[in-house]
Amino acid sequence: MKAPAAPEQDFLSNPEILKNYSLLREIGVFKHIDLLNKEIRDYKTLLAGAGDIFQRTSIDEILDAAVWQISDHFLPSFIIFLWKPHQNKDDIVVRSYKNYKQVDQNVGIQSISSFEPFFKQYPKPIAFEMFAFQARDQISPENLEPLNVLDPELLIPILGPSGLYGIVVVGRKMLEEEYFSKELLFLEQLMSFVSLAIQNHLHYEYSVRDVKTGLFNHGFFMTRLNEEIIRTQRTGEIASLMVIDVDKFKNFNDSYGHLAGDRVLESLAHTIKQTVRAGDVPSRFGGEEFTILLPNTAREMAWIVAERLRNAIAAMKVPWEPPLPQVTISLGVVSFEKSTNAGAEEIIHRADEALYQSKENGRNRTTVWGAGLLFKMQRNQKTA
Ligand code: GH3
Ligand code: MG
Ligand code: MG
Repeated sequence: MKAPAAPEQDFLSNPEILKNYSLLREIGVFKHIDLLNKEIRDYKTLLAGAGDIFQRTSIDEILDAAVWQISDHFLPSFIIFLWKPHQNKDDIVVRSYKNYKQVDQNVGIQSISSFEPFFKQYPKPIAFEMFAFQARDQISPENLEPLNVLDPELLIPILGPSGLYGIVVVGRKMLEEEYFSKELLFLEQLMSFVSLAIQNHLHYEYSVRDVKTGLFNHGFFMTRLNEEIIRTQRTGEIASLMVIDVDKFKNFNDSYGHLAGDRVLESLAHTIKQTVRAGDVPSRFGGEEFTILLPNTAREMAWIVAERLRNAIAAMKVPWEPPLPQVTISLGVVSFEKSTNAGAEEIIHRADEALYQSKENGRNRTTVWGAGLLFKMQRNQKTA
């Protein structure tokens, strides 16, 4: 059976078309068709590019993909992405690209919140000159100055349900003077996909993190603990769980106030993040209680990590005026493997029992679940 002819072949072999070929060519129909075909090809490329961007599993990968796609079209002198990694916080992450490569560049912008009212009103890419003119009454000269220094061509907002998530700052073209309107349209379309992909990742991050401390939240911790239990059963590896509780924190709040208490919890979370390895899961279990899930970690190592953390917290400086007294934590550690044969609830219960022992024995200490081992650990601690 003969394969059906492609539609354009159908069109060109149509006797009516052939009869009027010269006329059609003269009035530019074929040229126009060529242009339309090129536009279709461009849209196909854009859609394929969008598919590529949506498959990326981190924001850094999304940005790399976007920069490569832009580089297929033209060469901006720089592209800078700024975005808010935390919900309800003002801090921003900055990624700068020059010659398609990520570079270290301090852009002097600390926050993008002052740009939010403008971009909510005008949610589109905008030439920087136009932006500087139109936003002159809304944005103070100090906030505009870091952008002036960069002398960009374009600003592209990343907007979503919770407002302004970020801004893309695009430099002038390296070779020619100005962007063609087609190139601007391409940038606008590509960035609308980049913006969606970034929002998608940020929403995921926001949904698994505790707002106050930036650590993982209770729900994510439970999911990961259950996954880890299944993994130890499958692989025969050993994993550990650490529960952490701030000592006498009610007294602390009563004496120094809840705001000082909050600052302590933030500093504590920061110290926890610095103490754990990549792959560990530090979470806020609730209130002043934290957990750290340590995959592929045996009791002895978990105990060492716990003691390192306990000492780091006991020496931690919390930024507050006037200076606050030192806080301490108590810890309970439990390890589990295939033969443990216990579910998440039982494992948390055991870690809590060990924590309770630490509190009973005077606080500011680590207890490992399991009596024989507990003795050995305490002896090591004394002789260390
Ligand atoms: P213990 O050494 O036995 O753990 O004593 P504790 O006072 O820490 O224990 P308790 O469970 O009675 O009190 C916990 C306190 O933690 C009560 C609450 O005021 C405080 N807390 C819980 N969450 C937060 C928070 O987000 N911010 C602040 N500032 N305090 C919190
Ligand atoms: Mg508690
Ligand atoms: Mg406590």
